[in-house]
Order: sequence, then structure tokens, then C-alpha cells
Amino acid sequence: MAARGRCPECGSEALVEDSHYAQQQLVCASCGCVVSEGLLTTTYTEEEQLREVAYSQSTGQKEQLSRCLQRGIRRVQDLCKVLQLPGAFEETSVSYFQRALQHPRFHLLSLEKKELLGGCCVFVTCRQHNWPLTMGTICSLLYAKQELFAGVFLSLQKELGLSVPALSLADLVKTHLNGFRLCQRPADVPAPFVEDKEQLVTRTLQLVELAGETWLVTGRHPLPIVTAAAFLAWQSLRPCPRLSCSLARFCQLADLDLPPPARLRLSELLDVLLRMASQLAWLRVFRLDKKSVVKHVGDLLQHRIFLLRNAFCQEGEEERGEADPGQGPPPAQQKGHPSERSGRRPLLPPCLLKPRKRLRTAAPSAWEAAVTGDEPISDGEIEQYLRSPEEIRAFRRAKAWQ
Ligand SMILES: [Zn+2]
Repeated sequence: MAARGRCPECGSEALVEDSHYAQQQLVCASCGCVVSEGLLTTTYTEEEQLREVAYSQSTGQKEQLSRCLQRGIRRVQDLCKVLQLPGAFEETSVSYFQRALQHPRFHLLSLEKKELLGGCCVFVTCRQHNWPLTMGTICSLLYAKQELFAGVFLSLQKELGLSVPALSLADLVKTHLNGFRLCQRPADVPAPFVEDKEQLVTRTLQLVELAGETWLVTGRHPLPIVTAAAFLAWQSLRPCPRLSCSLARFCQLADLDLPPPARLRLSELLDVLLRMASQLAWLRVFRLDKKSVVKHVGDLLQHRIFLLRNAFCQEGEEERGEADPGQGPPPAQQKGHPSERSGRRPLLPPCLLKPRKRLRTAAPSAWEAAVTGDEPISDGEIEQYLRSPEEIRAFRRAKAWQ
């Protein structure tokens, strides 16, 4: 029997193995002290095969990874079940998760980010199947910050080389209006406010398409557009009793969230509709504004393609000065009454029509371009960056206070 150390009680080296109720014990033969109970060797392999114990085995690193993997897979599966996704989605998400965890980049992620990784895999799978799951939904399920989630999502997309299609707006409209309370006739909703769901979805879809064609969707969050389009569609289906209802009240009655940019999207959509209305002779005489144009949304949508082509001039066709990028904001004539806006403008995204910042100058000035970096630097130029003795004293005095 190899030496197993000394007895802590009497110091004797005579330790013997003894089985007590099928449990191995190490007992001191001199004083009877039980030195250790249970397994006498660290692992089974060491005992039987006399092999070295791998580092990862002794530290449990491998087990930790697989435990993390199992835990993660279970979370991905749970998430799929909670979201009531089709069965095939679960398999794809799990396989993405396994692939991601094998990737060295994701080995050392914090536990928090590893949880998000599972959510990202579900999110990617949904996008690839055109399932309208938004990042906001999945973040609220995972109690995650959107910035953190977006970071993990982008690195997952990059490392695994995944192609992630954009959110399908049509599907988003359908699911977003699914739980629409104004179609279900609850007690607290006045009768004229109740709307047929099919009709509402159809018109909302048309308005969202119109928004897409007129550059109101690109680069924007999709939900505010859907919200604005749904409100406009709902109002236009029965304008008389609904025109006085505000967007906020509508969202409250319909049990929808009101995302702040929705008001802006609504006003942009109305602006496009007004421009379209100015192309119809029988509407021009009414001198429509953003309220009264709602009554004619149905007509305008019907002749959408024709009206859009007429209301906006083609690119390159615009008059000089109106869309010159060097000239700052467009002329004030656009802000006038719609029927007074005779000048057609090109169809452009709102960020180009109303730039908030000074536009970037295209090329550096001649003086900047001529600088080579080899010019002499005078002492006077450098000295202005050095503290004078008086400044040093003043600085010292100020620092003494800290
Ligand atoms: Zn002893």
C-alpha cells in the first residue's frame, strides 16, 4: 500500500483502507481516526487505468462548456416554445447555437451574453423564415438591453457568416394587428370605432406599401410606421366619427404601444397623401389639409401609382436649386399650403429634404489639399501649447484644492 500521508491525530503512517457500509474509508490503524470518507482517489480513470488526468478534466472546464451548452440549448428550446414557433425553427436555432458555442470567439463570453446568444439564434431563424419577430420582443423576453443584444447579434452574424433578411413588413402588419382590440368589440369601445379586421389589415398594408415607395421606411424602425399606417387606415375607413380621435387615444383603445416616432411617420404619410391629392382636379378644389385628406385615402390609394408618378418629378428632372445639396434646406415654398405647392419636388427620403445638420462639403478646400505634412513648424507655434510659469503656478494652486 502506497503511503497516503500521515494521520492528523497521532501522526502515524499506518493508514488502512476500510469499507464501512460499502463506503470506502481511510482509517488510522494506530488510533482509529477516520481520515477520509468516500472516494479515495480523485477520479475513476486515475484509479483503474493509471492514466494522467487531463487538465480540463481536473478543472471541470470541459464539463462547464457542455453544461453551458445544455443549459443554453434548453433555453433556446424554451424560447421557441414561448414564442409558439413551428417545430423546424427550434432545430435550426439549436444548431446555430451549437455552432456558435464551438466558435472560439464565443467561448469566453460572459454568462449574460451567452444567454443573449441563444436569443440571437432564435431571432436569426425567425428572420430567415420571414417570421415577424422584432428585436424589441426578444429583448423584453430576455430582459436584455437592446444595445447589448444588437452587439451579440452582429458578431454572431459575422462569425457564422449568416445572411439575415430584413423584417417582412407585410407579416409584421398582420401579427401587429392580430391582438387589435378595436376588432374584438370590447365594452369600453364606442360602436363607430369597431372595425372589421380584414379590411383594416388590407388598408394598413396598402399604406405601409405606399410609405415604402415614398422612402418613409428605409432606415427607420418598422413599428412606428405600422402604427401610423394602422391609425390612418382605421380613420379613413369611417372618417366621420373617427377624425376627432387622436393617435394617442387610438393606441390606448386598441391596446397598442405608441412609439414616439409614430407621430412623425403619420405626418410624413399625410404629407405624401396631400401631394398625391394635389394631382386630382376634383380634390384640388377642396384645398385639403392634413385632417380632411383622410376622407379621400381610399381614392388616393386606388390610383396610387399614377398619382405618385405625377406628384413627384423624376430624378434629374427637378428644377435647379430645389435639390442642390450645397444649398442647405429646400426653399420655404414647400412649407406653404399644399395647393400652393405647385413646384414638384423629386421623391426623396425626408432626411434629404429636411437635413438637420449642415451638409458635408463634397471635397476638401484647395488649401487643405495642398498640405503635405513636410511644412516647417515654427517655435512660436509649438510654444502656444506650453504652460507659462504663471499658468503652472495657477494650476498648482487649483490642484491643491482637490
Ligand atoms: Zn492515528
